[in-house]
Amino acid sequence: MRIIFIGPPGSGKGTQAKRVTAKLQIPHISSGDMLREFVAKGTTLGKQAETYMKKGLLVPDELVIDMIMERIHQHDACRGFVLDGFPRTLRQAQELDQALANSGLPVDCVIHFDVPDEEIIMRSTSRRLDPETGRIYNIHFDPPPLEILERLVQREDDNEETVSHRLTKYREQTAPLVDFYRNKTTVYKISGVGTFEEIEANLLDSLTQNGSF
Ligand code: AMP
Repeated sequence: MRIIFIGPPGSGKGTQAKRVTAKLQIPHISSGDMLREFVAKGTTLGKQAETYMKKGLLVPDELVIDMIMERIHQHDACRGFVLDGFPRTLRQAQELDQALANSGLPVDCVIHFDVPDEEIIMRSTSRRLDPETGRIYNIHFDPPPLEILERLVQREDDNEETVSHRLTKYREQTAPLVDFYRNKTTVYKISGVGTFEEIEANLLDSLTQNGSF
């Protein structure tokens, strides 16, 4: 099953993608995580992407498209995947569509996470990452255990100004993809507000309806 998660930055799609891919035993392909890894390793792609990421801008299509195309053709993705954070522009969606059509493996469904802007800003600025486990906490509603507090870090692009930029880019360039996919596959709109468990239950309901679960 090939599933695409679309939602504003900080809508919880990464957290839900980790949970659902563990259950479905398919890879979670997050373009943001992949790019951050390249930045940390200091690769050419990482260096090119870093300046855009720091400002909350989208990394140019050609860089991201090649990276994802290579990833979805790796062996572990042959049973399917959840794409999180890709596609983010019409060009990315068209290229993905073409690549999947060429392999005869269309997208099974799109999950659209709906979260109001004020909630996104509040969530993103209180988000913290545990670099040792990759686990994401929120200092307000998913607080970390006290003993690991000191090692937690805030993503460089999780400050209010950058989050606002990312949100504007999302509304302008990514949200319209929901309509693009409505003409091609089933799109399930899920409220991204609620407890992790409530959101997960709605997500699993949609995937069950779709026959992906
Ligand atoms: P994320 O972790 O998905 O919020 O992504 C973090 C940052 O990586 C974004 O603000 C962009 O700068 C960059 N990025 C991630 N995915 C994409 C994509 N599909 N297209 C362009 N830039 C991306």
